[in-house]
Amino acid sequence: MYVDSHCHLTFDELHGRIDAVRADMAAAGVDRALCICTTLEEFDKVHELAQHHDNFWCTVGVHPDNEGVTEPDVATLTTLAARPRVVGIGETGLDYYRLNGRSVAEMAWQRERFAVHIRAARATGLPLVVHTRSASADTLAVLRDEGQGQVRGVFHCFTETREVALAALEMGFYISFSGILTFKNAQDLRDVAAEVPLDRCLIETDSPYLAPVPYRGKTNSPAYVPHVAAALAAVKGLPVETLAQVTSRNFEALFSGVLATATRERE
Ligand SMILES: [Zn+2]
Ligand SMILES: [Zn+2]
Repeated sequence: MYVDSHCHLTFDELHGRIDAVRADMAAAGVDRALCICTTLEEFDKVHELAQHHDNFWCTVGVHPDNEGVTEPDVATLTTLAARPRVVGIGETGLDYYRLNGRSVAEMAWQRERFAVHIRAARATGLPLVVHTRSASADTLAVLRDEGQGQVRGVFHCFTETREVALAALEMGFYISFSGILTFKNAQDLRDVAAEVPLDRCLIETDSPYLAPVPYRGKTNSPAYVPHVAAALAAVKGLPVETLAQVTSRNFEALFSGVLATATRERE
């Protein structure tokens, strides 16, 4: 059974057909998914998915790309994070890919927003879901300064270099691979994946974006995460069943709130 550790089921492409998405997941052996929050405005919708489906969980956070939305503060994040089935803080991080004519210095607001999420992760003890694009040095620097070695989490949809992977691993973070791992031109990324210890690997779709081969360019869905697993299994020289098992166990280890809810529901 597979876990999709990062998806956006509240986005228009998927939200209107959740029942079909869930049926496809079941047919593909994908038994759990983590629904990622990208704005405070969106939180209720994301949380509702996790509340209504016993194999969905969610996070709370504001994506670095989102401007003109409610700015999070530590108190708001920690309050929302205390709701049932919220198991992580994010997605958060830094993204200098679309500077739109601004300098990196002018992106101080993004670094401050990231710092707020890190403080919330420290306050709650929840793992951080980190997004980084064209900003790896600053992402690591802010994590070190604000995290003080006291936060754990995952670098999601990893596309960075070996050095960045090693720095993230050194800080105790997991590395999550997406459908990009299946792309023909992603040999560099497969080389990095070969070096990430198996017990720190996660898999994700980041749906509705980044559909893996053979669905590249189409709307992605959690049901496609086995293709990511197969690509990572090939890199590691392992049967895909083993890869599925290990990444599911890693998901439980990092987002231990997932297990906690399962235990509570059994009692
Ligand atoms: Zn992201
Ligand atoms: Zn995402």
